[in-house]
Amino acid sequence: MYQDKTLNCRDCGTDFTFSASEQEFYAEKGFTNEPGRCPQCRAARKQRNNGGGFGGRSQRPQREMFAATCAACGIETEVPFRPSGDRPVYCRDCFSRNSRY
Ligand SMILES: [Zn+2]
Ligand SMILES: [Zn+2]
Repeated sequence: MYQDKTLNCRDCGTDFTFSASEQEFYAEKGFTNEPGRCPQCRAARKQRNNGGGFGGRSQRPQREMFAATCAACGIETEVPFRPSGDRPVYCRDCFSRNSRY
């Protein structure tokens, strides 16, 4: 029968348990390789592969930017949304200054 095994995650280096029931499950599925990653990293990878989560920082699609004029200081700026016209648009500086209050 199977016994719990301690494996080392190749992503984060954490020791994790490859439990007897998991080993059985793997054997049933015909997997010959032991899992190389801890459950957390496996879940994170899965999420990334599904395009969800915030892990894929390097492949984040470029956000479309819209030219706008800052309502406070009047400089040309770019905002990540289409300026609607009925709401003042602020540059990054003025925005962070405003949101602080
Ligand atoms: Zn890990
Ligand atoms: Zn401004």
